[in-house]
Amino acid sequence: MQLKLLKKEENKITFLVKETEPYIINALRRMIVEEVPTMAIEDVTFVKNNSALYDEIIAHRLGLLPLTTDLKGYDFVDKCKCKGKGCARCQLKLILEAKGPCTVLSENLKSKDTKIKPAYPDMPITKLLKGQVLQLEAVASLGQGKNHIKFSPGLPYYRSVPILTVSGNANLNSLKEKCKNINIKGKSVEVKDLTSWTEADEQICEDNGIEVTYSDTDFVFTLESWGQLDTSKIMTAAIEMFNSKLKEFDKLVK
Ligand SMILES: [Zn+2]
Repeated sequence: MQLKLLKKEENKITFLVKETEPYIINALRRMIVEEVPTMAIEDVTFVKNNSALYDEIIAHRLGLLPLTTDLKGYDFVDKCKCKGKGCARCQLKLILEAKGPCTVLSENLKSKDTKIKPAYPDMPITKLLKGQVLQLEAVASLGQGKNHIKFSPGLPYYRSVPILTVSGNANLNSLKEKCKNINIKGKSVEVKDLTSWTEADEQICEDNGIEVTYSDTDFVFTLESWGQLDTSKIMTAAIEMFNSKLKEFDKLVK
């Protein structure tokens, strides 16, 4: 297997994986979505809420807020020494107190741990009019996307690398003019930038006598983080999870 970094942005990474199999790439994708844990709000106790939104709607909105996550600082509640009762090793309290008129934002949620806080400060939770008050206590804990998608750390997806074959009646001059994402070298053509290859490019190639097929062994893998963990931490955690699952399977087989 070969890896090559194609593009790295703040919350997005794209890389090329060569000489592998679709099931390995798909297993990596599933590890990220379902297994890599993040912190999210699980319980909310309302002290006062006379805003226009019901308690349930606000609790649901709070649950979906991405919280920056410190994977080493917390245990899963059901695997913690407290045996699921809840303690400082597996749970974190966040407090929200706001008085109208204002828009209550994610930054109004005050965390007792500086490492765990809303990933984006300006996400609106609700609006309060004059005299309206929102006061609550939320409890965040570590969870996995297989139990609730709010714990999922990001969006991973992959596409096969296109293979371009020039046929006898290809019109390379017209292709060069119409498709900017193609390099023409003599009588062969190749994709200039794999990260921006689209169906439109494929259509232009086919209209100009270039056959487009897709590789079974080479893939362009993209991961967008929702903000709880950075992309490199998500990838490392996913591979660790994958390895530990393989070890467990190996043990069971023996
Ligand atoms: Zn605990």
